Amino acid sequence: MAKIIINKERCKGCGLCIDTCPKKLITVSEDFNAKGYHFAKVSKSAGGCLGCRFCAIICPDVAIEIYQYEVKK
Ligand code: SF4
Ligand code: SF4
Repeated sequence: MAKIIINKERCKGCGLCIDTCPKKLITVSEDFNAKGYHFAKVSKSAGGCLGCRFCAIICPDVAIEIYQYEVKK
């Protein structure tokens, strides 16, 4: 399992993370951040995140963190 956290105040809304996510989990918010950008946000349940980190790697503003965790049975 993986959890995605996007720091909206670091985001400039370039859309690179949106294009690169194979699960299409990221979308653009209709709201603005303090810098006046439409920021990226998680569009669906984080349960679908693969933890591939493509979004975090491609982000030029280091706005995305991915945390992987195990689910104990
Ligand atoms: S880690 Fe991979 S699957 Fe998860 S949101 Fe980022 S690009 Fe999408
Ligand atoms: S790649 Fe980074 S700066 Fe660009 S929209 Fe995604 S989170 Fe924002």
